[in-house]
Amino acid sequence: MRVLILGGTTEASGLAHLLADDPRFETTLSMAGRTSKPRTQAVRTRIGGFGGADGLAAWLAQETIEAVIDATHPYADQISSNAVAACERLAIPLATILRPAWRPEPDDQWLTVANAGAAAEALGPQPRRVFLSLGRLELGAFAASPHHHYIARTVDPPEGIALPRDTRLILDRGPFEEPAEMALLMNEKIDVLVSKNSGGAATYAKITAARKLGIPVVMIARPHKSHGHVVDNAEAAGRWLEKRLDHRVIPGSARGV
Ligand code: NAP
Repeated sequence: MRVLILGGTTEASGLAHLLADDPRFETTLSMAGRTSKPRTQAVRTRIGGFGGADGLAAWLAQETIEAVIDATHPYADQISSNAVAACERLAIPLATILRPAWRPEPDDQWLTVANAGAAAEALGPQPRRVFLSLGRLELGAFAASPHHHYIARTVDPPEGIALPRDTRLILDRGPFEEPAEMALLMNEKIDVLVSKNSGGAATYAKITAARKLGIPVVMIARPHKSHGHVVDNAEAAGRWLEKRLDHRVIPGSARGV
């Protein structure tokens, strides 16, 4: 079975790893090409956009793809809506790995906002020491609130993005551990954390560290994400693919095998 994984996440790499040595699957992993040093993957990888839903549909048809797993990040909503449209058009089965969101505990002080601009505004008029744990593309919104001191952690340098003047950059990629996150928040005397609700374990330690230190969190809400059949991890996506094998129709044969 020829499978496309839309990736850029731990789950996508995990699923690629699961399928890599399985002779029943011929797998391609697709990455947007946002990171300058993408991790080495266990399966054939392609990098770069397809050119919208039409481009994706054309690529799926050309590659005779039989199943798609959308394992993109919960905040990557455009590619997911393209995947739904393209798979519907070609009647290709689609499953979406949607990581469960993090949930606040009773004593957590979370303020949920719609986007990075609203997060910058929610920091208020008094200067604060802010930890921005966001993608580089979201950092530009904080230039509108230049009176705070920012520690911004991203995977790649935010080249071409005008940052607030008082910003210290940390370039690092998870997973992160709670003791190190607590040390960072304490050493930098952070007053408030700004985060997306990414879910998953790899970047959760900043949330538990903020909880332990009583630091409030400005949480950017998840966008609405179009989706196919929803599963919540790579193993479940693997089981869904195995079931698809049972319903598969081999061209030229009278019945599915
Ligand atoms: P997006 O807004 O949903 O997608 C924008 C465009 O990027 C898409 O229309 C598509 O271009 C291209 N694209 C996105 N994911 C792709 C993939 N896996 N393979 C090929 N093309 C892809 O996505 P985004 O938020 O910019 O995220 C880009 C990538 O970073 C995704 O792979 C996502 O899983 C990963 N990521 C995102 C976040 C986040 O917070 N957004 C965090 C961690 C990782 P075309 O229309 O030309 O096909």
